[in-house]
Amino acid sequence: LDSFFQVYCLFCHEPIRPLIGWKSLVSEEREQHLCLVCDQKLVRLEGEKCRICYRSFHYLDERYRRGDLCHDCVRWEEDNHWCGYLDKNYSLYLYNDFLKETMAKFKFRGDYVLIKVFAEQIKQLADKINPTMHVPIPLSDTRLYERGFNQAEAMITEAFKPNHLLSRLHSEKQSKKSRTERIHLPQVFQLETSHNLKGEKILLYDDVYTTGSTLRHAAKLLKKAGAETVESITIAR
Ligand SMILES: [Zn+2]
Ligand SMILES: [Zn+2]
Repeated sequence: LDSFFQVYCLFCHEPIRPLIGWKSLVSEEREQHLCLVCDQKLVRLEGEKCRICYRSFHYLDERYRRGDLCHDCVRWEEDNHWCGYLDKNYSLYLYNDFLKETMAKFKFRGDYVLIKVFAEQIKQLADKINPTMHVPIPLSDTRLYERGFNQAEAMITEAFKPNHLLSRLHSEKQSKKSRTERIHLPQVFQLETSHNLKGEKILLYDDVYTTGSTLRHAAKLLKKAGAETVESITIAR
């Protein structure tokens, strides 16, 4: 194979070989970006999922499910301070060990490449949701300086114009706190607009949905400012 035409996997940097029947095995949008080995380690979230957070019921014990909601969402929705703010989250892939390691690597290197791999799928999903505003979850200034770019914003800019409606109030790491602390934590974001958001259908972007706390803090602020719906897209769940 002419090395000029050789394509390398963006995750593992191995050359991507055009195997026989390769096109039919790998989905169109990722065929130039990932080798077959890496592609197969990505697990799409398919089948029955939580109505709000997109958690796959396939990987969840029945005990942690109530109707069409997962246990975590039931708890959020039963809490008067949080119910009804985040309408729905959509995620592309299961946050398995492979994706965890890959995302950590790119976070550490501040690499834009991860976005290239998922850009087409994010665009397709966002087109389907059809929001009036695309809002990135902001990074703290320190994290932005360390990484060089905001991944959540990069998820948008490949296809849409971001609306910078939010900024961070302080940079304390959420992950260091217990769930109870997070729930009772005062707002971590502030609004960057004085406009009424009445009638706006807002789509939030973040790289990973873990506890849902970050997205719900953002959603609460936006709903209180008049937003009609607040949904979100994350790469991993
Ligand atoms: Zn690879
Ligand atoms: Zn849920």
